[in-house]
Amino acid sequence: MRNKIVAANWKMNLNLAEGKQLVEGILAGLPALEVHKHVVIASSFVHIAQTAAQLAGKSNIHTGAQNCSTETSGAYTGEVSAAMLKDAGVSYVIIGHSERREYFNETNAMLAKKVNQALANGLHILFCCGEALEVRDAGTQNAHVEQQIKEGIFHLSAEQMKDITIAYEPIWAIGTGRTATSAQAQEIHAHIRSVVAAQYGADVANNVPILYGGSCKPSNAAELFACPDVDGGLIGGASLKADEFLGIIEAMK
Ligand code: 13P
Repeated sequence: MRNKIVAANWKMNLNLAEGKQLVEGILAGLPALEVHKHVVIASSFVHIAQTAAQLAGKSNIHTGAQNCSTETSGAYTGEVSAAMLKDAGVSYVIIGHSERREYFNETNAMLAKKVNQALANGLHILFCCGEALEVRDAGTQNAHVEQQIKEGIFHLSAEQMKDITIAYEPIWAIGTGRTATSAQAQEIHAHIRSVVAAQYGADVANNVPILYGGSCKPSNAAELFACPDVDGGLIGGASLKADEFLGIIEAMK
């Protein structure tokens, strides 16, 4: 059975005290997680050491980061390397979030370099893809995400794909309250899995978790996660409140 994952993306929110309290709240309400179910807390860089200390020794709940550098080390002011993240206790890193692509001009070629850095340092990757509203309206979303995935991760070996989780996040659903319907999510998740299968074969494709992100909340998570190709969620706004995030974790099948 492939892994199921619910990951929090705190984005650029919370001070240290607020982050600590949120993790305490999550830990207080966290159900016992079956072996294939995982929770990830992807905070800003400043929270990572604190979050890692809070999660140390806990099963199936992991410290994450929202980005890493394309470079290994050296004179890259303002950057944080994958090696630094690993050393600080990170095990999952989000790469290719639409906000990074849009506001920080991250290209698929840059993302492929970040993917290589993360894997070289033993990190699991949450690789994001997803289309803007114009693309959805034009009906070309399948081709759009296919290109993002091909250029971002298809240079990897089948062995390396074991550390890849794909997160499909339609930009029109992020922070808008407008969730993809479960039928829309299932359709494109199935397409993503078929694209992975065409490149790597059915075994690899059947083991890659594909998460949905975009206005996911306790009230819609169960329906989304019940889709056969939706293996959990990447959660923004609803991950900032312990009770809401726990509600989404409960919906993990
Ligand atoms: P929201 O859950 O706030 O829509 O954000 C989704 C997201 O971008 C997670 O990475």
